[in-house]
Amino acid sequence: MMNQIKIGAFISERRKAKGWTQSQLAEKLEITDKAVSKWETGRSMPDLSLFMPLCTLLDVTLNELFAGECIAEEKWKEKADEVLMDVITNWLGHDQWESKENDTTPENVLEVENVSKLYETENHSVLAVNDVSFPIPRGSFVGIMGASGSGKSTLLHLIATIDKPTNGSIRISGQNIVDIPDEAAAEFRRRHLGFVFQEYNLLETLTIYENIALALTMKEVSKESIRPMIQSLSEKLDISAILDKFPYEVSGGQRQRCACARAIVVNPDIILADEPTGALDSRAARQLLDTLAMLCREYSATILMVTHDVMAASYCDRILFMKDGEIKAALNREQENKQTFFADILKKIEWIEGMP
Ligand code: ADP
Ligand code: MG
Repeated sequence: MMNQIKIGAFISERRKAKGWTQSQLAEKLEITDKAVSKWETGRSMPDLSLFMPLCTLLDVTLNELFAGECIAEEKWKEKADEVLMDVITNWLGHDQWESKENDTTPENVLEVENVSKLYETENHSVLAVNDVSFPIPRGSFVGIMGASGSGKSTLLHLIATIDKPTNGSIRISGQNIVDIPDEAAAEFRRRHLGFVFQEYNLLETLTIYENIALALTMKEVSKESIRPMIQSLSEKLDISAILDKFPYEVSGGQRQRCACARAIVVNPDIILADEPTGALDSRAARQLLDTLAMLCREYSATILMVTHDVMAASYCDRILFMKDGEIKAALNREQENKQTFFADILKKIEWIEGMP
């Protein structure tokens, strides 16, 4: 979490190093002296739109501004930038905003082929994912179910480029991500993936609005278009009334819907969700699931969601059932209603558990 007081002291130190008064800095940024004074005493943070100009004026990187200190050694700085991008990526999803309409993106957003992951520790090895293959068509809402330890999170991490498979290929919009070097993985995630986790990761020192806007700012979407984009999306997600609140001031369900807004606003190839309803009560969970389903319908989002909850799974179009690292079965929700699908899922789980 960002340390506001440290950041303030750092701004003050850098300003003095430039030989400017608070008013002079304020003037350059076209803001009031009072705002600068507030930052420097740790009482507020610069507005999102001021981060970049402030960094330029003070001769620091965004990373240094967030860290509240200069990062001296060249190597260390690169490393720290990488870590920061990684953190921000996980907080914000990715930063792609180009329209995908005119490119020749394949029908399948994701193609997993013969993927295995072997974890080798000193005295034993675990085949966490065992020769798994499946496609995910654009616009679909796919669930992965399985008992604890069946390999769900490992599989999601492989797709998220957080971990590398031992074998097989994973294509996202046609690109095999298995070959992506570690240095490029954070950038790839920012450009192509959105995340909605159980443990919610909004930046606590920014308002909900700023959290969503930051995802767009990173992509240099023009300042004028950010507000209308966030407003229309917020209405759809029923978070308009809380945009100016801080994450700790809103409920878990509202935070998760903000995470959805942040993930979708930058138009990712696929949204990865690991137990997104895990910490919610059933009413908030239903609302989140309705939201996710709506994103698929109305925003052509593609979602891959890990869940152990049958109710959550019943919102999906298709479920993959994992056991011992393998996909043992799949179930499509054809024309049937949620209740029928729910019952089918239960039957399938029972069947899989009874397998030798
Ligand atoms: P799930 O998310 O379905 O509960 P995981 O993917 O977390 O399952 O784990 C699948 C198997 O892989 C488990 O046996 C687990 O102990 C093992 N595993 C997961 N991560 C690691 C790791 N980093 N090192 C060694 N074994 C691991
Ligand atoms: Mg897991």
